[in-house]
Amino acid sequence: MRLLIVEDEEKTGDYLRQGLSEAGFVVDLARSGLDGRHLAATGDYDLLVLDVMLPDVDGFSLLRGLRASGSRVPVLFLTARSAVEDRVQGLELGADDYLVKPFAFSELLARVRSLLRRGAAPVNPDFLRIADLELDLPRRRAMRAGQRIALTPKEFALLELLARRQGEVLPRSLIASQIWDMNFDSDTNVIDVAIRRLRAKIDDDFEPKLIHTVRGMGYRLDLPDA
Ligand code: CA
Repeated sequence: MRLLIVEDEEKTGDYLRQGLSEAGFVVDLARSGLDGRHLAATGDYDLLVLDVMLPDVDGFSLLRGLRASGSRVPVLFLTARSAVEDRVQGLELGADDYLVKPFAFSELLARVRSLLRRGAAPVNPDFLRIADLELDLPRRRAMRAGQRIALTPKEFALLELLARRQGEVLPRSLIASQIWDMNFDSDTNVIDVAIRRLRAKIDDDFEPKLIHTVRGMGYRLDLPDA
């Protein structure tokens, strides 16, 4: 899951970037509205966190432009102002949620996760199930055959990506950009190592195997040739 934060206050931006990265997201930070607008237009983001008061292009204008260009990316606005008209204006423009500064990081994280779940819209948005594998998204927990599997935030993010796109072959380059925020470099085997670790936890002691290597293409999570 890849997020873009647009925030001109240095401390707030750093704090959000660090917190959200530690929570397992890939995070880009723009410190001005212009940079934010550029990144939002070119990047493939699952959610934007937009400060309203920016020195150049304000958050409202940025969102208006995005919606006008057809983007439906979920947006969480941050604002120091709690005025009712700000809130109304933001929501009318197509913001999905609103948080008034100062806020607790836990509150922000809960809103972010809730918006991402809403964006995915499966039958029960809190859980992903494939065979006897179950991902509890709000709690960031994985179970296999009713057994809790301990995963790092990155491992959970990788498993979530594969599970959300069940049956699709995900190229290493896509996994690299979504989970590690890096451009794929064929000299690095970080993806393969991470998949091996994930398999050891998710598949080694269980049947059927769910994580499949598609030679020359990437990885796929699915039931075996069902
Ligand atoms: Ca600001």
